[in-house]
Amino acid sequence: MALIVQKFGGSSLASPDHIRRVACTIAATKKEGHQVVVVVSAMGGETDRLLALATEINPDKPARELDALLATGEQASAALMAMALQNLGLSARSYAGIQLPLRTDANHTRARIVDLPTSVLRRDLDQNIIPVVAGFQGVNGNGDITTLGRGGSDTTAVALAAALQADVCEIYTDVDGVYTADPNICPSARHLSKVTYEEMLEMSGLGAKVLQIRSVELAQKYRVPLLVKSSFGSNKCTWIVEEAKSMEMESAIVSGITLDRSVAKLSVIHVPDRPGIAYQILAPLADAQINVDMVIQNASIEGYTDFTFTLSREDLAKARPLLEQVAKDIGAWEIRADDSIAKVSAIGLGVKNHPGVAARMFKALADENINIQMISTSEIRISCIIEAKYGELAVRVLHDAFGLQQS
Ligand code: ADP
Ligand code: ASP
Ligand code: MG
Repeated sequence: MALIVQKFGGSSLASPDHIRRVACTIAATKKEGHQVVVVVSAMGGETDRLLALATEINPDKPARELDALLATGEQASAALMAMALQNLGLSARSYAGIQLPLRTDANHTRARIVDLPTSVLRRDLDQNIIPVVAGFQGVNGNGDITTLGRGGSDTTAVALAAALQADVCEIYTDVDGVYTADPNICPSARHLSKVTYEEMLEMSGLGAKVLQIRSVELAQKYRVPLLVKSSFGSNKCTWIVEEAKSMEMESAIVSGITLDRSVAKLSVIHVPDRPGIAYQILAPLADAQINVDMVIQNASIEGYTDFTFTLSREDLAKARPLLEQVAKDIGAWEIRADDSIAKVSAIGLGVKNHPGVAARMFKALADENINIQMISTSEIRISCIIEAKYGELAVRVLHDAFGLQQS
């Protein structure tokens, strides 16, 4: 008998039929003699619907109320799933994050888990009851509901698996595993039966939303065996593993291409080039909990330079007025914002040992006349900022350029 955490994403729960079907999957696992803890996302499209409602009522979307609103999506599907399981003759009980309680820090809309007691879940498991946990949410020190960021139900599932020392955490979604690129963008993407934690961290951090990055971090930290599989029936799946075990991964220079459409760019034009300027520009953003990603400072001309950085598109509205104030303070000319960009990345353990990777990437983009606006590199990836409208084309072109297609 194994203890299995099964997480079902929104697309797997899009309608009453979907929910019934997932309930049958859970029932089948139970019938095999395993203990199951279920984590559910909101029904497909529900989080976006609630977000749009919030925007309509108050475009500022006050974070505390937004979390209270968004968490209801997962609460509804947890209750519905418990009902569906009961309808199959199984004992099941739904839990909102606050009922466990899954404790988080105070950071609304992107909270991090700080404590996850398991007593309620253990009690249910001992009584042969299937706990159905609403993903994506917790409660902070003030007793307010928080959420874990988009895709956060993955993180709830891995955190539960870690806390319960489960034998495996299964992430059920609308694809049958992790591919060399998003299979919905790149039809020739190849299925990967194994991906290392490091590569998956890069892929998730760079736009592969199949797993939220926090979930991969937690899985690596607590050595949770993590599996991505389809809710819609397929005998393929992907294991996220400790290190490259397959020859295929060891020999690949680049093993994946990702696209991140959630980025935006801010530039401060005509900045005096003196010590402390980068700090002056970025400190107010850090104070407002806004993460900055790629940063470029141009070569200085006659003591002045331009300063450009990328950030999450969600943070643009909040960052812009802060930066306008900074621009005034330091005597810069103006601020330019661009939210029609995307980040395309080539990821692989071979990047550090193969100097030609960057050149191959730039040539492939140039051949399609795609202009590169910013570049950043690490030991295992190269990322380029390009115009958003070329994002999908860039993924396909790079996938071909690195020979990742199915043979
Ligand atoms: P869920 O609702 O189940 O949480 P998500 O939409 O969050 O599902 O994640 C699944 C989606 O991730 C897929 O439909 C696919 O479009 C996307 N995706 C992006 N990159 C990849 C990749 N490399 N491999 C597989 N899926 C990917
Ligand atoms: N429902 C949330 C979202 O759409 C969380 C999740 O699905 O994991 O982002
Ligand atoms: Mg998801």
